[in-house]
Amino acid sequence: MRRKLVAGNWKMNGSLAALVELDAIASAASRTPTVDVAMAVPATLIATAVARAPGLMVGAQDVHGAASGPHTGCLSAAMVREAGARFTIVGHSERRADQGETDADVRAKAARGHEQGLSIILCVGETLAQREAGRAEAVVTAQLIGSLPEAFDGAWLSIAYEPVWAIGTGRVASVGDVAAMHATIRATLATAIGQRASAVRILYGGSVTPNNAADLLMTDNVDGALVGGASLTAGSFLPIIAAAAAISAGQAAKWPGDRSPVARQ
Ligand code: PEP
Repeated sequence: MRRKLVAGNWKMNGSLAALVELDAIASAASRTPTVDVAMAVPATLIATAVARAPGLMVGAQDVHGAASGPHTGCLSAAMVREAGARFTIVGHSERRADQGETDADVRAKAARGHEQGLSIILCVGETLAQREAGRAEAVVTAQLIGSLPEAFDGAWLSIAYEPVWAIGTGRVASVGDVAAMHATIRATLATAIGQRASAVRILYGGSVTPNNAADLLMTDNVDGALVGGASLTAGSFLPIIAAAAAISAGQAAKWPGDRSPVARQ
């Protein structure tokens, strides 16, 4: 049984003042022991966030693939680890697009992060054009194979399936498409590491909100969510944690006809 992981990603948002949101998120996380809750804040906020919310799993949004060197403006895995990060996102589609990161870059980042003791959330996802061309599963499978670090393990690696067209757009992949893609990802992982693939968490990301979280989190092979916009405030992030907790506890069935129990809170 894989524990659900609800991870937030503040992207290039947030400030010292915004850390007040983390107080409520950390407090909810501590009351929700059946769900892992994590937050990737801007690197400038990691140390303060860790000091402020020591119980929360605080992480980085990216690390460099090299241990150190002439990479102006970049941060190494050791640096964010020293600041208190416990995990890092790698391969987010915004970095693949904006910074031209390749699968090989992402693989190096994941390996370096693991070497420095960070857990890794590795993102993959297709563009709208690729989906409309019927190539979504082939694209995501190729990205995954190209980005997976050697000797990976579910103890420290999670995969986030994030269709590019669903990120920050309000468009969400259908539950059927998510189930199909997550099954494909699970099969690809199994080809690489056999039965141990069943321990790797596969998150869905792309316009997850309190209204759609329960449906997505109930889907086969959806072991959590990577949440951008809705992670910026406790008001929108807490219901997603609550949905994961309710499903983990098998309580979702208590709301027949309303598969979004959190909408009532
Ligand atoms: C993300 O940043 O990974 C993401 C999924 O963003 P949003 O939830 O805003 O679509």
